[in-house]
Amino acid sequence: MHIVRSIDEMQQWSANERNLGKTIGFVPTMGALHNGHSELFGRSVLEHDRTVVSIFVNALQFNNSADLEAYPRQLEKDIVIAEETNVDALFVPSHDEMYPPNFSSTISAGDIAAHMEGLHRPGHFDGVATVVVKLLNAVSPDAAYFGIKDFQQVAVIRQVVRDLNIACQIVSVPTVREADGLALSSRNVRLTSEDRQEAVQIYRLLRELATLSLETPTSSADIKKAFITRLESSSNGIVEYVEVVDSQNLRPTITATTDSTICVAVWFGDVRLIDNISIDSSPS
Ligand code: AMP
Repeated sequence: MHIVRSIDEMQQWSANERNLGKTIGFVPTMGALHNGHSELFGRSVLEHDRTVVSIFVNALQFNNSADLEAYPRQLEKDIVIAEETNVDALFVPSHDEMYPPNFSSTISAGDIAAHMEGLHRPGHFDGVATVVVKLLNAVSPDAAYFGIKDFQQVAVIRQVVRDLNIACQIVSVPTVREADGLALSSRNVRLTSEDRQEAVQIYRLLRELATLSLETPTSSADIKKAFITRLESSSNGIVEYVEVVDSQNLRPTITATTDSTICVAVWFGDVRLIDNISIDSSPS
């Protein structure tokens, strides 16, 4: 596996592979790799001749400096995981390589980024959009893979790629979960053991509410109320938001239907977890 640290070298590596007629799949990450990331790598490896993974903790998308400081970093372990999943090149640029002192152009993510994560993490999606476009320009992949766990992020990236005519297919991959249902996240390692056990309530409640909405048309207001009351009475979790949105355009919906997705953000101590469920895919 090639470890690439500069944008120039990344561009040259990709150009060389293209000249050899190889297709390239790309998975951007912030490291602290887990099986959710490996799932994305596996899809890319299956579907492309070459797979590039980036590890870059993007300061531009953190609205909270304590969260940035606390973000887990484990490059040595990550290199082993990437190698084991047959990644061909690991792109690990430094902060200064991506954002030199004279850096000044950023992307504004627009309306789709205005609510949910975008509302609660001001500037987050501008940072995500900017770094993803920079990474796509460094790697020039045929396709880039993103997890549905970050539901709004996938929608923002699809919009940006469409708006800016970037010739890259965006592929979304279902959420990988622990056996008890908790969505894998690099942040899970920061949960106390009690909070880790209680965090299982997030997906348990999402499943219950999605199943209920499949059986009986349920108002979004009732779903929100039920999620907050039940989560907060059964755990230490504090709900930051619950939204029921149209799965395609992410606009809030009045009633939860099979076209809707329930999205949540919950704090356990100083750890913020997000998750979502498409009502369509909920177990009956
Ligand atoms: P991150 O390193 O958290 O920025 O995530 C890198 C990519 O992995 C993003 O596209 C995430 O949506 C995706 N991802 C993170 N957790 C999971 C998961 N549990 N299942 C599937 N994809 C995930």
